[in-house]
Amino acid sequence: MSDWSERELGRAAVLRAVAVDGPVSRTVLAGRLAVSPATVTAITRDLLADGLLEPAGKEPGGNRGRPAELLRVVPGAAVALGVKVAATQVTGVSVDLLGDTLSAFEHPFAAHEPDPVATLARILGPHVEAAGHHLIGLGLGVPGVVDTASGHVTAPTLQWSDVPLGPGLAELLHVPVVVDNDVHTLAIAEHLYGRAKDVDDALTVTIGRGIGLAITVGGRLHRGAHGGAGELGHTRAVADGPLCGCGRRGCLEAIASETGMVRRAISEGLLPAGGTPAELRELAQRDGRAASIFAAAGSALGRSVGDLVNLLAPTLILIAGEGTAAWPLLEAAFRAAFDEQVLDTHPEVEIAVDPWDDRAWARGASSLLLGSVYAPEHMTRLGQGAEIRDRLQAVNGGADDGR
Ligand SMILES: [Zn+2]
Repeated sequence: MSDWSERELGRAAVLRAVAVDGPVSRTVLAGRLAVSPATVTAITRDLLADGLLEPAGKEPGGNRGRPAELLRVVPGAAVALGVKVAATQVTGVSVDLLGDTLSAFEHPFAAHEPDPVATLARILGPHVEAAGHHLIGLGLGVPGVVDTASGHVTAPTLQWSDVPLGPGLAELLHVPVVVDNDVHTLAIAEHLYGRAKDVDDALTVTIGRGIGLAITVGGRLHRGAHGGAGELGHTRAVADGPLCGCGRRGCLEAIASETGMVRRAISEGLLPAGGTPAELRELAQRDGRAASIFAAAGSALGRSVGDLVNLLAPTLILIAGEGTAAWPLLEAAFRAAFDEQVLDTHPEVEIAVDPWDDRAWARGASSLLLGSVYAPEHMTRLGQGAEIRDRLQAVNGGADDGR
């Protein structure tokens, strides 16, 4: 199962610590990682030789004796492409080794048309080319169930069933490709750079067209046996509730997603056919019936997330997705239902709202690759990590490529 050698684990830990805390001295690194200075010296020598770290001057004065040399990550040592695939468009970013965005793009995309893999390859080909020699791979986040070992995707919202997205794109574009569920990619990004950086037990709840969930338990992203864990949207929120896209009744998604709320507003004559979430938000400012749709949604969501707290005892709940635009309309009902549902024995749980846009989701997809470089195996566990790390070394001359 493990594709990490001891040496790689050491390299990843040092690289990540420098990325997070750099510029930093070897002595401080050794203390932070609880390893001997000699170990840190050996690993950093490797990383300096591979061009992944560089000297960053001397430690500012104060200490007696020789001031220690500081090290930092070379941001340009790697470029990763991250892409969020949605039903009607793809959004992508290229990021450097620190996860900072270098460029961004957006293309229309019709997911339901025949041969979506070839279409995506045509869209992404020029961006792969533009990323150049330092590209370590392509990460994709898709709104569906992903078999992370094979890279195959089943996604009802895209009308995809067992589409070989990962292997297909790798063959057509000649780069390593890593695919995961889009909510998972967002959670990995939160753990790499975001609010969940030092948090082992967190829930990432996304609201928007659907309701998504990524569960991190003990620092590990829980995918379940087949990658399908986290279908919060299709847990039953009310008996005999409205019909859900999955064909059943009363799912949380049918009540608390933008799609579900707009559908209810249309059926109650509050919005015309074809009304939008933005129109419903606007209407709720002056119409109590529209506001009550948001209150019902917030309440259902608060109860469900409260149940998750009782089950999983996280310390942090991140709420993200385009639906957070309605958070001011959802929050009071959410809080009331949440507080009522969570057992008194649980200590206070932090709830943070992260209004990330599609570009942030794409950046999350790039974290699949950087996660393969930085994160402990159990955070990403994608099977292709070794390939990404080999490539990182190769593009920086660590392997014999004639450079
Ligand atoms: Zn459902």
